[in-house]
Amino acid sequence: MFENLKPQPADKILALMQMYRDDPRQEKVDLGVGVYKNAEGVTPVMRAVKAAEHRLWEQQTTKAYTGLAGDPAYADAMIELILGNAVEQDKIAAVATPGGTGAVRQAFELVRMANPAARVFVSDPTWPNHVSILKYLGIETVPYRYFDAETRAVDFDGMIEDLKGAKAGDIVLLHGCCHNPTGANLNQSQWQAVVELLNQGGLIPMIDIAYQGFGDGLEEDAAGVRMVASSVPECLIAASCSKNFGIYRERTGLLMAISQQGDAQALNQKTLAFLNRQNYSFPPDHGARVVTTILTDDALRADWKAELEDVRLAMLGLRQQLADELQRLTGSDRFGFIAQHRGMFSLLGTTPELVEQMRVDHGIYMVGDSRLNIAGLNAQSVPILAKAIVDAGV
Ligand code: PMP
Repeated sequence: MFENLKPQPADKILALMQMYRDDPRQEKVDLGVGVYKNAEGVTPVMRAVKAAEHRLWEQQTTKAYTGLAGDPAYADAMIELILGNAVEQDKIAAVATPGGTGAVRQAFELVRMANPAARVFVSDPTWPNHVSILKYLGIETVPYRYFDAETRAVDFDGMIEDLKGAKAGDIVLLHGCCHNPTGANLNQSQWQAVVELLNQGGLIPMIDIAYQGFGDGLEEDAAGVRMVASSVPECLIAASCSKNFGIYRERTGLLMAISQQGDAQALNQKTLAFLNRQNYSFPPDHGARVVTTILTDDALRADWKAELEDVRLAMLGLRQQLADELQRLTGSDRFGFIAQHRGMFSLLGTTPELVEQMRVDHGIYMVGDSRLNIAGLNAQSVPILAKAIVDAGV
């Protein structure tokens, strides 16, 4: 049997991490994998997470199974965090999942189950795992234009034109905020126009929100999601707590299926629970319980928000420093987009050859599509990167 297996493509980001580790240079800079790092290069456990874990350790009396949907209190807390009161609770089915990836996977499985003919429209580019999971599930993927190579902002006209090619029942995958890999995001009027297009075409949005709080703030980053969820008949939302709670390895995510049809919620909830049962039975609980503990306790929630805000502002500061340094070196504003982008990433929009050159000449490690992890920088490495960008002639 095993002789029939063929090697699967290696994950490029993970391969890059290994190359970075093997590089003996002192001044090497890791801008690859999407993990937040502070100025010391550490991915810390957030204070509120430590406190919540301590509380759980003291108070938790059992590790017996939860329900197939996970702890309902977790779904309630996350729904409130993401949607506020934009959608009535009885319209929302929700299950805990192993990370945002688990939510994305379960969402696509639900799509395939409900409408095998549905195609999924994805931004070009998008998080590569979206495309990889869709391919694995045998779901047809259609790219839509998203990134303007000239301005490094959203190519909104191109996006709308391409989405007009979708048929009723097709899925449109949107990033809730902090687009990965580009860092370029829709503004409120663009979200509004997307909502109109979805409703005119009978298209179903699926929103992946993995960086709430990393862009313009917790509420601001959820504004697009809330607008869509409250304005369309049906939608899917896949959320991750990996980044904004810094609990990457705890595998903590949530999938929501929202339907405005009065009686759909019960069946949607049962179907999501069924899908969990088929794939892994009960979803992981520890991270979910930590998140619930934080979100439902005023003091812990306030402390978490304060630390998250520090993280967000640190990344904005690094963006500004890098844009300023490039302005100084080039005498032009053409890298101003770095300060305009939001979230952990910016797509430089250059060739794999120049990315490789920056790695060889300056020890700068970024993904081949020229995605920078802004959080991989600090005050010392900003000038090194700026010089590498200018030397390479980006
Ligand atoms: N969606 C997007 C757009 C992401 O960038 C990520 C993390 N890289 C995820 C989902 C999933 O994150 P996780 O499974 O680690 O929660």
